[in-house]
Amino acid sequence: MINAVFVTGGAGFIGSHLCEKLLLGGKKVFALDNLSTGRMENIQHLISNGNFKFTKGSVLDKDVVDKMANDADEVYHLAAAVGVKTIMEKPLESWILNIEGTENVLNAACKRKTPVLIASTSEIYGKNTKVPFGEDDDRVYGSVKNYRWGYAFSKGVDEFLALAYFREKGLPARIARFFNTIGPRQTGIYGMVVPRFIQQALKNEPIMVYGDGNQTRCFGYVKDVVGAVIALMERDDTAGEVYNLGSDEEISINELAKMVIKLTGSKSKIAHIPYSDVYPEGFEDMARRKPDLSKVKRSINYKPTVNIDGILKEIVDFEKNRL
Ligand code: UDP
Repeated sequence: MINAVFVTGGAGFIGSHLCEKLLLGGKKVFALDNLSTGRMENIQHLISNGNFKFTKGSVLDKDVVDKMANDADEVYHLAAAVGVKTIMEKPLESWILNIEGTENVLNAACKRKTPVLIASTSEIYGKNTKVPFGEDDDRVYGSVKNYRWGYAFSKGVDEFLALAYFREKGLPARIARFFNTIGPRQTGIYGMVVPRFIQQALKNEPIMVYGDGNQTRCFGYVKDVVGAVIALMERDDTAGEVYNLGSDEEISINELAKMVIKLTGSKSKIAHIPYSDVYPEGFEDMARRKPDLSKVKRSINYKPTVNIDGILKEIVDFEKNRL
């Protein structure tokens, strides 16, 4: 049975991989993207597929969202402000997009109680120092003067909204918190470390590590993440629940820089740059960010399929072809 799926942010990095996987699964996909950070080149290969329909527009446009949700049997809401850099440079736009956009999507889906998945973020945990993060752990934020926390806050509002729609209106909404997700098509323009390091290495330019580089992250493979998102949507008992998603393989940013240099055979040297040179005043970074994945493992038998070495190799090949 073919059913129709509405994907917001469908031309984005994660959104485009999700659309591709849904089409492979025989679904009809309606993608909405305003192309502010999403790119046509991400979905160019899907345009000729008769089951794929792209609409250029915003989740802030209620009429478009209502119409697309009405035509769909499932809604994946991925449209959001992207990357720490965007959030800090355009706080107002990010805040409105995240909150009003999500409200529009939930409201539209609620008309026919269409199942929804809301994409959220590990940023939710803020600067809580707990390792690893479980879904019910505290969210710890700094001053409102640091716009970074505005992003975490807005996604927190999105989550509260989704759970309120579930509890009060019976909307089957579930939430996936993406930890650092990487793969082909991700751009470094909005600050993401992996595409930036790979592009710097391929050009034999210095690899710009911010801070002392001892901060760690866990990098999840985009194809694992979109597979998990679809599997979560397939289960009724995930409604009203929150899931961490990504990888729990921890690596420091210094180690990442060394791996990238090795994999590319680059002549690049590692340069350490103070945070104050690259981020606005008051920026705070997280020393570690690791998910507890036991809940998603229990629910859908989730297992990351490729380790960091394998993912980086695939991205390096992709970036080489783009040069
Ligand atoms: N980072 C870096 N060089 C860059 C971009 C990022 O050293 O060119 C660092 C950044 O300060 C952070 C880590 O890499 O400690 C991950 O950054 P990213 O923006 O990719 O994700 P997030 O901060 O949201 O985890």
